[in-house]
Amino acid sequence: MYLTPQGTGWIEVICGSMFSGKTEELIRRLRRARIAQQNVRIFKPAIDRRYDEGDIVSHSDQRIPSRVVGRAEEILDHCPLSVQVVGIDEAQFFEPQLVEICRELARRGIRVIVAGLEQDYRAEPFDTIQALVVEAEYVTKSLAICVICGNPAVRNQRLTKKGGQIVVGGSDTYEARCRRCFRPGEDEPELFEGEAGDTK
Ligand SMILES: [Zn+2]
Repeated sequence: MYLTPQGTGWIEVICGSMFSGKTEELIRRLRRARIAQQNVRIFKPAIDRRYDEGDIVSHSDQRIPSRVVGRAEEILDHCPLSVQVVGIDEAQFFEPQLVEICRELARRGIRVIVAGLEQDYRAEPFDTIQALVVEAEYVTKSLAICVICGNPAVRNQRLTKKGGQIVVGGSDTYEARCRRCFRPGEDEPELFEGEAGDTK
């Protein structure tokens, strides 16, 4: 019996809502791999231009240098045989073909750690993350804290009326909500008296 797979790579997924610490957890695992002298590569999709072009930065400003790639296949081009660990952040912005790429990396013996958003602002799953969860050996689901009531939160409340599944933003554009306080399709939710609104 072994703690991790032997003679092959594997896939770890860190998924959950915004503000749930996904990127911090990814950075933590990658830092530990580096302390162990492992050859680490980190990637993120070109669409995510928040905060910093070349670094992976968590909401709490932890950072680690990363390479921005336009398409998932480019990850393979930047992974020579010496690479042992690959981290991928904001994976929901990659096309579902990312699953094939992760599979190939694992086949090459690489430990693949993927962090991504599970649900969009309508509480619909992102296809790429859903498929990766099925493919992965290890899945960590991180929960945020509902800003309205303090419950564990799985939803992303969009605070802007801008349309489309992908509107990149931080705490000015989204907030974490539990399923009770989540109001899909409303940017200014009205709370009923006696319900959820008491934050003090
Ligand atoms: Zn709540």
